[in-house]
Amino acid sequence: MKLSQGFWQTYKEIPADAEIPSHQLMIRAGLIHKSGSGLYNYLPMGLRSIRKVEKIIREELDRIGCFEITMSVVTPGELWQETGRWDKMGGLMLRFKDKKDADLCISPTNEEAVTDIFRKTIKSYKQLPVKLYQINTKFRDEIRPRFGLMRGREFTMKDAYSFHMDKASLDVGYQEMYDAYTAIFTRLGLEFIPVEADGGAMASAESKTHEFQVVANAGEDLIIYSQEAKYAANIEKAQTKRIKTDFDMTVAPMKEVETIKVESIDAVCKLLNVQHSQTLKSMVYTATTGSESKMILAMVIGDDSVNEIKLQNFLKCDHLATSSEDEMKKAKLWKGFVGPAGLEGQLDILLDSEINLEATYVIGANKKDAHVTGFSPKRDLKKFTQADLRLSKAGDLTLDGLHTVVEKRGIEVGHVFQLGDKYTKDMKVGILDQNGKLVTPLMGCYGIGVTRIVAAAIEQNHDENGIVWPKSIAPYQVYFATIVKAEEFVKIANDIYSDLTKAGIEVVYDDRNVGPGNKFKDSDLLGLPLRVVLGERDFSASGELEIILRKTGEIKKVKREELVSTLKNLLK
Ligand code: ATP
Ligand code: MG
Repeated sequence: MKLSQGFWQTYKEIPADAEIPSHQLMIRAGLIHKSGSGLYNYLPMGLRSIRKVEKIIREELDRIGCFEITMSVVTPGELWQETGRWDKMGGLMLRFKDKKDADLCISPTNEEAVTDIFRKTIKSYKQLPVKLYQINTKFRDEIRPRFGLMRGREFTMKDAYSFHMDKASLDVGYQEMYDAYTAIFTRLGLEFIPVEADGGAMASAESKTHEFQVVANAGEDLIIYSQEAKYAANIEKAQTKRIKTDFDMTVAPMKEVETIKVESIDAVCKLLNVQHSQTLKSMVYTATTGSESKMILAMVIGDDSVNEIKLQNFLKCDHLATSSEDEMKKAKLWKGFVGPAGLEGQLDILLDSEINLEATYVIGANKKDAHVTGFSPKRDLKKFTQADLRLSKAGDLTLDGLHTVVEKRGIEVGHVFQLGDKYTKDMKVGILDQNGKLVTPLMGCYGIGVTRIVAAAIEQNHDENGIVWPKSIAPYQVYFATIVKAEEFVKIANDIYSDLTKAGIEVVYDDRNVGPGNKFKDSDLLGLPLRVVLGERDFSASGELEIILRKTGEIKKVKREELVSTLKNLLK
């Protein structure tokens, strides 16, 4: 591509709303263009990378016998009614009506649509398993669209779905997909970790789910990780143990103490001169299912926090939120002074499994400006349930107690999920088995954030001068910058460009009438793996061109005759 005729513009200024490097660089390097909140136009340079990501995904999915389809981006509301998700998807789903007043939405995901295709096509066990995928536009009206393509509202997703007669076949299909994902992310040149993920309240204990996380500081997900133990889980799902806790095992009667305006655990510990582990944190939540809601008191050790995903899964409720001030007031609960005393019968009380029931703790007194010392759960509570509620944290031990875990930030680029019979059951799909009996097939679903990958790759691969593309998804392979004036050198430059393109090398030919400084700045910003420089003076003196490796800054001098073969070697 000749830049003098190209459609490309770079920018010096960092856009005001771009908080993280990948977002800033994608705009500054002219890859994308914002059209609205969470909405982006893909410009030629950006689109080339996206297409390369798509190509790698296609090749690896075709390899495992997954068939590409394209589902309509607009889906009828009726399908979503069948599974109840028309109501459950909430504000995430962009809905509208057509001129006949029929409900429609823009696909945020496509389980219903693909299950409808499946049930209209497949009738017998002989046709299973079935594996389908598409690479298509999704729309999710995200609460906080941000970070450019990382969390857009409109984005490109690869979504795949598989259908199976039984769990054994689903397990095989899941593993194939897991392996294909590993191949895809390896080819994309990303540093990634597959992590155990949360399957939601509906998932059965044996249904597997993993996220593929790209390790990066800007990641919105937290991963709990131990390399030695080969343990990696999204913090939402992670199960770890506290390191040894100094419980207070002295037996004492409960006693109310005045704690005026002392609301936080820190302040309580300071005032009463106790350790955090000698206090209990009481959190009040409102759990809603359908039109019914109830309040719950969840308790963890003072320096722990409640994992709200675990709590929601335990309660099997549709929504969970910390109770509002209004709700607290109505239930006569004092924010900052909540405790279980006197709440039995009124609220369900849940205690984290790490709480030593025989130890003694400081708790809220359930009235303004007061706490209670000497509380011992086993002795002082009649009715409560113990469950794993705590949020894992760095420094915890793996469940076998042998290894310490660390926290890492991750960007979720892919997700594999055993759905089981949730959709096939709701949508009344029946397949005839070997004995002519109708059975409900099982499903798996597998997503990859195509456009998010491009952002994640840049997040992981950049320096102060710009992007440092992994070879496999750079928009082009070589940036050919020329510093030539005389007619004969312009001709040499044109000839070299045509040699390179003939050799199948993807070249951006910077033949613009601008100074070398500008060319090199733009070249670094765009970050193609190799830069080739033809300088009139150097070339006439030595007959050599310069190759600069973007990643390391290493410079190689080559004769013109060796240029193509050297580049090909470097691009391998
Ligand atoms: P997240 O937790 O980041 O919101 P999700 O778990 O809701 O994502 P899935 O439903 O698993 O996402 O979608 C499959 C993949 O699509 C994700 O792994 C992610 O890479 C990508 N994706 C999801 N939401 C977005 C978005 N708003 N913008 C860009 N990519 C997204
Ligand atoms: Mg996900």
